[in-house]
Amino acid sequence: MTPTWAQLVYLGCAVAFILALKGLAGPRTARTGNLVGAAAAVVAVAVPFFYLELDHVPRILAAIAIGTAAGVLGAQRVQMTQMPQMVALFNGVGGGAAALVALLELEHMGDITPGFDVAATAFTIVVGAVSFAGSVITFAKLQDLMTSRPVVFPALPLVFGAALLAAVVLSVLVVRDPSVGTGVVLALLGLAIGVLLVLPVGGADVPIVISLLNAFTGLTVAAGGYVLGNVVLLVAGTLVGASGTFLTLLMASAMGRSVANILFGALRGGSTLGAGEASDRPVRSAGPDDVAILLGYADKVIIVPGYGLAVAQAQHTLRELVEVLQGRGTRVDYAIHPVAGRMPGHMNVLLAEAQVPYEQLVEMDDINSEFRHTDVVLVVGANDVVNPAARTTPSAPIYGMPILDVDQARQVVFLKRSMRPGFAGIENELLFEPTTTLLFGDAKESLSKLLSAVKAL
Ligand code: NDP
Repeated sequence: MTPTWAQLVYLGCAVAFILALKGLAGPRTARTGNLVGAAAAVVAVAVPFFYLELDHVPRILAAIAIGTAAGVLGAQRVQMTQMPQMVALFNGVGGGAAALVALLELEHMGDITPGFDVAATAFTIVVGAVSFAGSVITFAKLQDLMTSRPVVFPALPLVFGAALLAAVVLSVLVVRDPSVGTGVVLALLGLAIGVLLVLPVGGADVPIVISLLNAFTGLTVAAGGYVLGNVVLLVAGTLVGASGTFLTLLMASAMGRSVANILFGALRGGSTLGAGEASDRPVRSAGPDDVAILLGYADKVIIVPGYGLAVAQAQHTLRELVEVLQGRGTRVDYAIHPVAGRMPGHMNVLLAEAQVPYEQLVEMDDINSEFRHTDVVLVVGANDVVNPAARTTPSAPIYGMPILDVDQARQVVFLKRSMRPGFAGIENELLFEPTTTLLFGDAKESLSKLLSAVKAL
């Protein structure tokens, strides 16, 4: 029995998790929200040491120390652009841990009447294993340890369907006769399903699958909390499950796609990622001095940051340039597309790191009507999120994705290194428009040159 004081502490932790999520919803409160959540997690982990008769305390402490060290080192060293794969790894470990705990629980379930408890245990084992294996494959894809293109083979749908069916049958077997042996086979099947689920997903869609697997881990942990009679696990898991599901749906809708299309699109032949060739059609390019003159005489400028800004780590130089322009009396805003970059909120985090005031970041729906009154739009390392093919070309993989209406501005300047396409792998007609100018080069170098040229005006 959990003593009343511990139950009260768990209740406090659960409330703290909800407050943490609330805090994470806004950039100003996100840091505090994160700290509140982390502190509650530490308390929740510490509480059992004070009321349970635990065996192997030194081993448990050693495992906690190793996990903490790996987590801290990983989080400190990771580049912003590698954040999705780190989230994937942490998420997978959570799912795997829940599956292992459930497997061990099966050992004590031999004598109890089959019921909801055993069903929840079987669910935890299989979904936790799916989440673990799927997350490992997403990590490998994003970390370039394997190809990021969809991996499909003719029998894949059949094998996947058979594995799902086998998992259902084995789960029923586990519920009727809980045994660790059958549980292990179920876990192995879960691992296979996780691999088969993620293999056909193309690199551009992998972050969405990470969010989906995150939701799976949440559900696994919630079911594990039910099995162990632990309220804090139940609440934390439910919160992760619900927020992961919402995030998955929001990301899919921001890309104008359905989750089914993201997961199984490649099986139907519609690849979710094209590597895309660099175009050799003529474009209008200019040097930093010419672009500086354009900017120097503009009354209203909008900056569109994208993945390339994060790659070049040019956010600080960009902020400096904007400050100089503002000092000259130019009105400058940043237009934020919900899926610019490679993870939700990527641009918000990147620009917040460079101390860009939050008021200057304007969401897509609020800024789209502004482009037609804008003298110059500076597109820094963005491509898909401004590609009009999303409106005009039904065969394009991004067709239906809401975009920033950059093409309505008087002048558009793209900062990119080459004529290679963005993540969707398709050409951007906007690059060939007469009102478009390209400033070729790494965004950081181009912005530094632009900064000096604007200062010298
Ligand atoms: P894109 O991937 O469309 O384009 C990035 C651009 O940056 C390219 O034109 C590239 O051109 C340029 N670039 C890359 N490195 C540099 C550099 N060092 N200096 C200058 N330019 C550089 O990015 P967007 O942000 O426009 O779009 C995001 C894409 O990712 C969308 O397709 C979205 O659906 C997808 N996505 C987003 C997720 C999210 O949550 N944010 C999740 C999953 C997918 P070049 O190589 O010529 O330099």
